[in-house]
Amino acid sequence: MHQASTCGARRADVIVIGAGLVGASTAWWLQQQGHAVVLIDPALAGPKGSEVGKPDPAVRSGSRAALGLLMADVAQRSSGRGWRLRQRSRILWDLWCRQLAEAGWPVPRRPGLLVLAGDAETQERQQRLVLERQKRGVPLEWWERPQLERLDPLVPAAALGGLYSPRDGQIDPIAALEALLGDGLRQGVQGLAERVLRLERPVNGGWSAVLAGGDHHRADWVVIAAGLGSAGLLRQVPELAGAAAIPPLEPVLGQALELERGPDANDEALWSWPGAVVWRGLNLVPRPDLAGGLRFWLGATLEPGERADPLALERLRSLKGEAPPWLQQARLLHSWQGCRCRPQGKPAPLLEALADGLLLVSGHYRNGVLLAPASAEWVAQQLEPATLPAAGT
Ligand SMILES: Cc1cc2nc3c(=O)[nH]c(=O)nc-3n(C[C@H](O)[C@H](O)[C@H](O)COP(=O)(O)OP(=O)(O)OC[C@H]3O[C@@H](n4cnc5c(N)ncnc54)[C@H](O)[C@@H]3O)c2cc1C
Repeated sequence: MHQASTCGARRADVIVIGAGLVGASTAWWLQQQGHAVVLIDPALAGPKGSEVGKPDPAVRSGSRAALGLLMADVAQRSSGRGWRLRQRSRILWDLWCRQLAEAGWPVPRRPGLLVLAGDAETQERQQRLVLERQKRGVPLEWWERPQLERLDPLVPAAALGGLYSPRDGQIDPIAALEALLGDGLRQGVQGLAERVLRLERPVNGGWSAVLAGGDHHRADWVVIAAGLGSAGLLRQVPELAGAAAIPPLEPVLGQALELERGPDANDEALWSWPGAVVWRGLNLVPRPDLAGGLRFWLGATLEPGERADPLALERLRSLKGEAPPWLQQARLLHSWQGCRCRPQGKPAPLLEALADGLLLVSGHYRNGVLLAPASAEWVAQQLEPATLPAAGT
């Protein structure tokens, strides 16, 4: 096991399984806190399986499919764990982006989120939310229809008004992932492009991860951040087998599109989005930083299971039949899909200490990009009190 070089204290050896945004954030953050971290995921392999830090395109990760919306201030609930995690993550993303940029890993982060109301009930609910949040000092604004008109022809004609959140917005999920992996590896995170087959309990304590290639890796702590692969790993742990502690995790597929506005769509408003725009649960994300400066993302479908439905993609493309003309005329560049990981019978995300030295950080469902930093911080807090799990385990 790893011995710390300072203060006579032993650093925790930590294995993080899964290098999506949650695992990569956790590995990066733990490394910053002085822990010795091994990050294991077949997605760390390059096309030839050799280059750590580049994704294997055959591995499906929710993080590489995400649109990267950060919805903290617009959350429906105003208290409880979900609210605290969202608020904490919002703050941490600001700090992390600054730190990563200083280290040479700029992560595009665009502020601003406009959630449109398409019916009177939504409008009323959003207006109540704005008043409630404003009383607490959260800077939400309600934009009446005339205020939306200055955005014409950007928003659908049927929009009654919109809730504008200046502190929410969007982050580029792939740039964030590559920054966390790149900076983490540079700072000493050890990356292994392997699949973990199972976890074992060596007699002299700690955990051992058995890799598909046959190697075993020992550590004091194991963090399972393997998205949909998490439940399979937990089923292999003898002391958890059959226990109610193992949460069922189900896939919910999402499809998304990258489009480009036509060159004739040169109206001023189409060049000055107030940030990401949400219409009836579908997100329009401006990407002026991508080649040509006219691109945007549209997503994502919500399809329980792992099979993509072409009709769901059509409904997305037409914005449920309400796409404004500029959107109908936009050129489709490409589409992609990925699976979210939804816990059944428990609220997302699952942040659980399952046994001594064994932590689960998974099931982030629709908000894993937003919640990755607060999840990493939760892991670090579990390692804080004793650095090592209880003796005799
Ligand atoms: C289309 C779409 C749009 C989304 N949009 C947003 C959004 O706008 N905002 C937002 O906050 N969230 C969004 N999400 C959700 C978000 O992407 C997820 O919640 C988040 O990416 C989950 O990250 P993760 O690291 O837990 O899982 P993943 O990204 O799925 O990573 C899990 C990793 O574990 C690895 N793994 C699995 N099993 C093993 C094993 N046995 N050994 C080693 N490694 C293993 C996999 O290879 C994978 O790389 C979206 C998701 C989708 C699909």
